[in-house]
Parts: sequence; C-alpha cells; structure tokens
Amino acid sequence: MARRGSLASGVMAEPTPPTPSTGWIEVIVGSMYSGKTEELIRRLRRAQIARQRVEIFKPAIDDRYATDAIVSHSELRIPSRAVRRARDILRYAHEAQVIGIDEGQFFGRELVDVVERLAKRGKRVIVAGLDQDYRARPFEPMPELLAVAEYITKTLAICMVCGAPANRTYRKLKRGGRVVVGGADLYEARCRRCFELGRRVRSRAPLVPDSGGSHASSRARARVRGARPRRPAARRMR
Ligand SMILES: [Zn+2]
Repeated sequence: MARRGSLASGVMAEPTPPTPSTGWIEVIVGSMYSGKTEELIRRLRRAQIARQRVEIFKPAIDDRYATDAIVSHSELRIPSRAVRRARDILRYAHEAQVIGIDEGQFFGRELVDVVERLAKRGKRVIVAGLDQDYRARPFEPMPELLAVAEYITKTLAICMVCGAPANRTYRKLKRGGRVVVGGADLYEARCRRCFELGRRVRSRAPLVPDSGGSHASSRARARVRGARPRRPAARRMR
C-alpha cells in the first residue's frame, strides 16, 4: 500500500524550487532601523529587472508620509500604492506576479487571509513589517504571517547604546499608546539588555503628552499601531 520512497530509506526529500505557477509567501521582520524596507525594495527591484509584473502596497495610514512610494531609511525608494485595507490589495493585484507589502503590522489580521489568497493564486508575496511593538510584544499580524510563510528573514539593527545586534524598538520618551508616530527622535534600535535597562529608567520618568505633529519634517518616521485608543493605553504603560 504505502510506497516505500526516499523518506522510508531515511533520506528527507529535498525542497524543490517553486515553479512559476506556484505561489509562496516571504516575510521580512525586524525592529526599526534593521533594513526591512531596504531588503523588500532590493527583492522587488530584482523582480522588476527580470521583467516580472510587480505591484507594491503600503497602508494609507499616515498622509504625511510619501503616499506614492515606499522609502527606506537609507533613502531607497520604489513607487507603491497606498491602500486603506488589506483586502484592497486583492483589487489591484490581479495581473501581478510579484506583490510587495510594506508595514504589514498596520494592516491587521485581514492581511493574513489576503496574503494566503494571493499565494494560492500563484503569486510571490513579500511582506515586510515590525515583528514586535515598543514593548517587545509580538505585533499582529506579523507573528501569524511568520507561521504561514515559506521564507522568513529576520533583520537585525545595531543597538544604538552598546553596538550589539538589536531586534527591539525602544521608545525613548514616555508617551501613551501602542501607536505613536515618530522617527529617530522617538525610537531607537536596542539589544535585549539595553532595552530592559531603558524601560526601567523610563518607568520613573514623567509622561510626555503626544503632540503627534511635532515631527512633520522628519522623513524617518514610523508609527507603532495598536488596537486601543491612546489615552487608556497610556495608563497601562510602564
Ligand atoms: Zn545594547
């Protein structure tokens, strides 16, 4: 009945490279300043050079950011389409062979379903995003995407305090909520140790009101999003 193949002889079947008709999911995750977007742009450019049809998306959550392009901290740039919801991607992705999505953490749980559907249709889907929030907690939906992806890349930054490899995004000021817009003035990459040390110090600092608009000129801007409004979340901050 059961055919005795290579597995029965103790040899694992080697993964074969996907054929053009097979879709798959690639996820690039890390802290801020770890080069996620840079890596996403690099892969998308390779596909464009190979004359593959590429569509690129980002969440339309921050109008002050460039709405027509994905821009890395290292000033790499690639044209993109801003969409309000993950499901909007399905409308524009019919013709695409390769789909790039930046800031996946802002799309919410819906993104997982969308990405799976695209891969099922034979598309190569590449998603970049923050895997942890400013408290170093898993940032949905990225953890779930990691589970269903074929390929995972974790990018590391360099700790801005001690120079060790850093996988955490540290918020320098005590501000309320999981979603606070800021760039280098508000966030920095930190290793585990410096992240914890900073939290202990910051927990004794007074709460700084979030002006929200004081960084409008900063190109390096990011937003950390959460499900809850700012004010109640501020009380829970440590
Ligand atoms: Zn450090």
